[in-house]
Amino acid sequence: MARVVGACRTYPCAVVSILFVVFFSLPFSLKAQNSKPHTDRIFVNGIFWTGDDAHPRAEAIAISGDKLLAVGTNQDIRALAAADTAVVDLKGRFVVPGFQDSHLHFPGTSVNSVRLEGIESLDAFQKRLAEFAKTHPSLPWITGGGWGYSAFPNQTVDRKYVDAVISDRPVYVSERDGHMGLANSKALQIAGITRATADPPNGHIMKDANGEPTGELKEAAQELMYSKIPPRSEEETYQTLLQHMDEAAADGLTSVQNATWVPDDQPVFERALAANALKLRFRFAPLILPVDGGAPAHHNLQKPLTADDLKGYKRLRDTFHGPLMKFGSIKGFLDGTVDARTAAMFEPYVGGGTGIPMWEQEDLNKTVALYDKEGFQVMLHAIGDKAINMALNAFEYAAKANGTSGRRHRIEHVEVPLLADLPRFKQLGVIASTQALFASPDATVLQNFAVLLGPERASHADSFKLFDDVGALQVFGSDWGVFDFSPLKGIYTAVTRMTPEGTPPGGWYPEGRISVEAALRHYTRDGAYASFDEEIRGTLTAGKLADFVVLSQNILTIPATDILKTKVLLTVMGGKDTSRDANF
Ligand SMILES: [Zn+2]
Repeated sequence: MARVVGACRTYPCAVVSILFVVFFSLPFSLKAQNSKPHTDRIFVNGIFWTGDDAHPRAEAIAISGDKLLAVGTNQDIRALAAADTAVVDLKGRFVVPGFQDSHLHFPGTSVNSVRLEGIESLDAFQKRLAEFAKTHPSLPWITGGGWGYSAFPNQTVDRKYVDAVISDRPVYVSERDGHMGLANSKALQIAGITRATADPPNGHIMKDANGEPTGELKEAAQELMYSKIPPRSEEETYQTLLQHMDEAAADGLTSVQNATWVPDDQPVFERALAANALKLRFRFAPLILPVDGGAPAHHNLQKPLTADDLKGYKRLRDTFHGPLMKFGSIKGFLDGTVDARTAAMFEPYVGGGTGIPMWEQEDLNKTVALYDKEGFQVMLHAIGDKAINMALNAFEYAAKANGTSGRRHRIEHVEVPLLADLPRFKQLGVIASTQALFASPDATVLQNFAVLLGPERASHADSFKLFDDVGALQVFGSDWGVFDFSPLKGIYTAVTRMTPEGTPPGGWYPEGRISVEAALRHYTRDGAYASFDEEIRGTLTAGKLADFVVLSQNILTIPATDILKTKVLLTVMGGKDTSRDANF
């Protein structure tokens, strides 16, 4: 009874609950004690990796409603079946808790956008663009992204490469990290960007030797273009959400933490929630707004926080706290990326520059302390060692100033930490939110990222083992939006540090590799902890939500190089199938 009332944060909800208790609890209480919950489905003959240290392995599970009724041996579970219980024979297949991606960006790129991931040559880039333009003749703008610098001559992008294939319509396509993009001449013209246009604060308009804009826009300069691209309709966003949720479920995801929250998209998520169409559990992180009175030059992207803003963030947290849609974290940016040389570093990049820190330490401390005091979890994007150091300092400051603990603050990406800062993660209870696929040693990583860092820093960049070794809590995400969100691809990368093609043999800086089991934890129960959900999901434990994935192979026993050949056969969220392979 207490739990029902206690779960309500609104007055009407509490009143309804009390009435419910008064009218219904007495006559039903006796019955409830004697009746067993109905077993809707059982899954038997499986190999279960539960993630639960108390019972790490099992053969079978029973589901009642949206929860796991029991986890145990075939015999235990068969004994729970009623006459009408559905029985699924797993035939020895491998089952893990539903995957959680702890950092991505739904609803994602529109169903009407061009995808440029995996393209490794200028010719392929131009062909893809030309083909998309031809098959989408009525789109006024051509947008999308996912390209990497390695596809271009001398790792240098230029509008002329786009103009050559599309000159009659504006084109703006983002680099795969999303921190920069490439426009064609038509788009520059519409945005009014000329040789005379000055860099906006925190952004760069790249110009050639003659002072003409090349079409490459970095960081805040991208806003000049975004403000001209027509917004997509609500219906288009809804269709985009539905399509990407299907893809995520097919990859085995059941929970995600959205490192973004765009007020305009809120009605779309609410519509999906009301229609019972959510195939993923969402937790959203609205943007951090700085406490007023700091140095505004460093905050120019973000208006100062008002009392109304804070009220709004709290209202979202109070309104959406269910297992399908949740708020409670706040996301900020401290720097950019290594590839764009905008990640903030203590020592210069090879070739010069130390990146752009977006905050002064003192302003950051004040702002983080305010959200900490109000009970929010703060997620700070920090990639360079300087930015990571600043984030840790701010979390340390907030805990001391407020006397708080257990806020589970997080650093997002955390790619190039100072080795000396690593023990602070555990000491401060700060979560390392890393992206397994960032360690895939493709051409961009080897020819741009690693070269800019130099061998010493590159040797421990995206090294997931470092965080595990110091006992920090680490969660895996994809930064999807442009990167692939497949957890199996992430696990393969974290375990091998090789490309899908198996290069370099033995792995890129192989001392950073982790075990399959560690990778599974970062994709399941650690993710649940990072969203304050470890009591209700993250492991296959009786009483928790029935979120799990059936895989075609036991990835704990096959050679690591075969992980990519593994298929997700079935994804179940809250007891319901959200994706089922035709062969299952
Ligand atoms: Zn992100």
